[in-house]
Amino acid sequence: MTLLDDAPSVAPSPADRLKCRNCGATYPLGPQHACYECFGPLEIGYDDAALAAVSRAQIEAGPANIWRYAALLPAGQDPAVRVTLNPGGTPLVRADRLAAELGMRTLWVKDDSANPTHSFKDRVVSVALTAARELGFGRVACASTGNLANSVAAHAARAGVPSVVFIPADLEPGKIVTTAVYGGTLVAVDGSYDDVNRLCSELLETDDFEDTAFVNVNVRPYYAEGSKTLGYEVAEQLGWRLPAQVVVPMASGSLLTKIDKAFGELVDTGLVEGAPCAVYGAQSAGCNPISAAFAAGHDAVRPVKPTGIAKSLNIGNPADGPYALDVVRRTGGAIADATDDEIRAGIALLASTTGIFAETAGGVTVAVLRKLLDAGLLDPAAETVLFNTGEGLKTLDAVADRVGPTYTISPSLRSAREAGLR
Ligand SMILES: *Cc1c(COP(=O)(O)O)cnc(C)c1O
Ligand SMILES: [Zn+2]
Repeated sequence: MTLLDDAPSVAPSPADRLKCRNCGATYPLGPQHACYECFGPLEIGYDDAALAAVSRAQIEAGPANIWRYAALLPAGQDPAVRVTLNPGGTPLVRADRLAAELGMRTLWVKDDSANPTHSFKDRVVSVALTAARELGFGRVACASTGNLANSVAAHAARAGVPSVVFIPADLEPGKIVTTAVYGGTLVAVDGSYDDVNRLCSELLETDDFEDTAFVNVNVRPYYAEGSKTLGYEVAEQLGWRLPAQVVVPMASGSLLTKIDKAFGELVDTGLVEGAPCAVYGAQSAGCNPISAAFAAGHDAVRPVKPTGIAKSLNIGNPADGPYALDVVRRTGGAIADATDDEIRAGIALLASTTGIFAETAGGVTVAVLRKLLDAGLLDPAAETVLFNTGEGLKTLDAVADRVGPTYTISPSLRSAREAGLR
């Protein structure tokens, strides 16, 4: 050690390349999302030895948020550069009453509505915006089905970075207000999410957007890695072991594949004992391209035009669909989809048995869990984790006409009695 060594040392990121999920071609780390050889999607590759060096004790000594897993992530090793509202550390709730209702033995709800902007998207955005800063971008942007919009606008506001958020114009008011309030530029596009996403890819090719990190386009490989922290957290909260089954909502399918990736890394590095976990996927009937491909036994996912109330999951052309199918088939899971009425019933069932008020995506996941059990595709006796990824207050309209006061009375004993209140 010399006298010049007094700057705090920051461990290098364990990420060492981008690799094509389709053909395996590799590229240097950077803002690139598609393979030049085959146009396949790129993901972050890691130095296996660097991952294997990470210990439980090192993680446990970290902060009570996603950054305790920094040594397993492609950005944010230096706390000073993180762009973050410090998401993560959300409750893993033992759901005995819901389990009893469904005839299951051990069921947990990972409640990721308990994040700074009330969805799991804070995890991916924190990693993506940190990567964008490390890569030198001056502005951030995204195409969103709602929750991503909230999170990008909020994180950009915290960091003082300009943001441009693109959404379909017909989003729930509860997601438009909760984005616009943070300032930044909000662009409502008269079209579907898939139209919005295509527009973003086109804008990215123009000089005007050269200096812009689109979190789910050019820095998507970094963004996607943020979802791994949900998998790490569940394993750590269970005492460093994996559940036997997980049920995950799917829009693009990215979250599902990254929970599986996280579990695989934990097993490979010896952080958990190697027990396989079956991964189940949930979609809505109004937007079920991955579920339909699963049911038909297809490898390719045919795009659909999304309809229905689960707007946060309404991606008709899911980028990670084929990879989600691979994960589900490899792990022995299954996929199903739920109608709007089943989604509403799912929200009500979760709320009345756990005290957790989920947005429509949570209703989808609960409804699909029930369907998978009814179909005999999911083992009621095996320990299961259900992921609630978003907050009910953002999609009040979904249940507003199905719930309300039990009695409406005047403030008098007589009125109470007359109404039948005992
Ligand atoms: C974005 C989102 C998902 C799923 O996202 P993927 O594109 O599949 O990674 C799930 N739930 C909610 C509430 C979301 O906002
Ligand atoms: Zn390729």
